[in-house]
Amino acid sequence: MAPKNVSGYIYGPETREANTENSEIRDIVGQIQNLLRKFPSLDAVLEDPGFKPVVERFGRELATRLLRRELGRLRQSVLDGADLPEGAVSIAALAAGTVGAGEALLAPSPVTVVNAGGVVVHTNLGRSLLGDRAADRVAEAARGYMTLEYDLETGGRGSRMAHFDRLMDDLFPGYGFLIVNNNAAAILIALKALAGGREVVVSRGELVEIGGSFRVPDIFSASGALLREVGTTNRTRVEDFTAATTENTAAWLKVHTSNFRIVGFTEEPALAGMVTASREKGVPLIVDWGSGDLADLGGLGIRDEMPVQKILEAGADVVTFSGDKLLGGPQAGFAVGKPDLIAKMRKDPLSRVCRLDRLKICALRETLASYVMGTEFEDVPTLKMLALTPQEIKTRTEAVIGEATSRGADATRMSTRPGVSRTGGGSSPTGERPTTLLAVAGRNGDEGRLEAKLRKGSPAVIARVQDGDLLLDLRTVLPDQDKIISRRLAEILKQP
Ligand SMILES: *Cc1c(COP(=O)(O)O)cnc(C)c1O
Repeated sequence: MAPKNVSGYIYGPETREANTENSEIRDIVGQIQNLLRKFPSLDAVLEDPGFKPVVERFGRELATRLLRRELGRLRQSVLDGADLPEGAVSIAALAAGTVGAGEALLAPSPVTVVNAGGVVVHTNLGRSLLGDRAADRVAEAARGYMTLEYDLETGGRGSRMAHFDRLMDDLFPGYGFLIVNNNAAAILIALKALAGGREVVVSRGELVEIGGSFRVPDIFSASGALLREVGTTNRTRVEDFTAATTENTAAWLKVHTSNFRIVGFTEEPALAGMVTASREKGVPLIVDWGSGDLADLGGLGIRDEMPVQKILEAGADVVTFSGDKLLGGPQAGFAVGKPDLIAKMRKDPLSRVCRLDRLKICALRETLASYVMGTEFEDVPTLKMLALTPQEIKTRTEAVIGEATSRGADATRMSTRPGVSRTGGGSSPTGERPTTLLAVAGRNGDEGRLEAKLRKGSPAVIARVQDGDLLLDLRTVLPDQDKIISRRLAEILKQP
């Protein structure tokens, strides 16, 4: 066996054993040289008929780069002391290695998956799906020029935000708005434009970290606004805000602590009290309302989420929220509020930095149009999924079990049972919806293996494991994907 690092030996300290060591080193270097002599030259491989299909598939230039890397990788492993298995540098093996590298390079990523995990707004799976209206519009818009910033009347320059003017005026009459790339950007711009260099008061209990990547203190330091924390993690009162407000205070910030809840003895200043007190002090109140639903979800039993309109009516000066959480559109960030404050935000160069691209503008417009028309529960997949009843899901689940059984799955392992789906996406903290689960009973602890098979097969199906069972929740599965679930279940539950 060659050592891990030959140079370590060569340059090691002189010792009495140096002579024996030197001869060992000579042996090792000789072995390595022998192995490297087995490597064919790059050109020899490229000209070999056995390598021709690779060249045809990837083109000569890419095939050459891939092969060079493949040879380099094998050479390095020899230098690192690995053995060279028989045939590792044969034409067939080099062709296979090059094809593998080429496929990995060009494979679509992210890949589409079927979400049977029951978390509707799943940040790691892309949050909200676009409805047909929005998706069709994006497909059309992707292929053509458009009046993105162009006025057909005058032939002169138009405005990107103007495409939303009428819809936003219908949804939020009398308020100004700015739409950027995501909610984090909307908050960043609000803090910078409205409070850069001055203090913003925020409750310690709301200095949340959302989804492992959004930390309020980090946004503050990027904005240049100074974070003035008040209260304790579990207890903050309006008086704490008032007491901390000085002539250097530019705003108060309330963050919707949406994806976690400090359980137990907690006190969070109510919005109404903050509105009154902030007005007395004459400082604007910015509210980061996270998930930003425009529909009234109270009817679905989602009571932690108040529609954005209500937050504005309650007197918040600027409300920010995401476009791809409960709103159900593409990734985007909204700021809606007092026209003079929004105008300041629009003027900030960061608004240009974080501007929307044309595909998002089209997708978002169609999504908002559904709210304007009152068809959001028919058009917006996120809302459609949330609105499904346990009975509707049960009917589909039973059909899936029947279909999987007729395809050869072991019926004795599958059953339906009541369970809960989650809203997800940093929306309501309790955020649970009653559902019907498809449960696959584990046998000899194989539920984890089954889950991995579903996940690694094609198309990938995301499920979850709980208390010895594999659980699938069709709430987050599109109805036309039910047949995929039956097929994949039959695959993993085939009877011998
Ligand atoms: C999700 C969330 C954010 C971040 O929104 P993005 O659109 O992902 O940038 C910020 N604040 C709250 C309260 C959230 O729930």
